Amino acid sequence: MPIDWKYVVTPKIALLEALVVVIFLTGDGLLGFSFESAYADTLRALSDNLTHGLIAAISWAIVIDGQADSPRGALLQILLCGALGSLVDVDHFLAARSLKLKAALSLPQRPPFHATTVIPVISLVILVTQRLTQTRHLPYLPLLFLVSWLSHHTRDAVRRGYWMWPFGETPPLPYGTYVMLNIGLPLIVRCIVLYSKLSEQPHLGLEVV
Ligand SMILES: [Zn+2]
Repeated sequence: MPIDWKYVVTPKIALLEALVVVIFLTGDGLLGFSFESAYADTLRALSDNLTHGLIAAISWAIVIDGQADSPRGALLQILLCGALGSLVDVDHFLAARSLKLKAALSLPQRPPFHATTVIPVISLVILVTQRLTQTRHLPYLPLLFLVSWLSHHTRDAVRRGYWMWPFGETPPLPYGTYVMLNIGLPLIVRCIVLYSKLSEQPHLGLEVV
């Protein structure tokens, strides 16, 4: 059964997409800003990481708008997605075996959480684990993980391309492609969620809340 676009892009969703654009334009602008502070590198790294987290969080808010069981459940999922989006950069410190920012930012190669090929593998592992254990909690966790990490990798790909380990790296993403991908990702995943809800409970129909 086809999904009416009015269920996918509501006025609220359009507003949230606009917010995503404002956040990554602001975050990307701050990356080139020269902070007049002894803590310039730290401030830049914090604002960069906050941008990743906010984009992931709002992207998930777009995915589940009107589809979560409760407002509290929706908020927890949004916070989880934001936290996972920020957490990707922890691997810089793990690979450097140091909490010092300078060591974390001067690694000879990209750290493991930045391998984009790892994302579908982890999503699949989560999905299979959920099926085997018949977990009903967080049914969209594989998609939530995908949105949180892929939005982060897409933003990083503007500077360095996607790291498709073990196959190599893609060229850096053109900025326009990056904008389209970060806008499109939550909408595509929202369609997947709407389709799966519809196929599981066709009698419910799709309600816009
Ligand atoms: Zn990163």
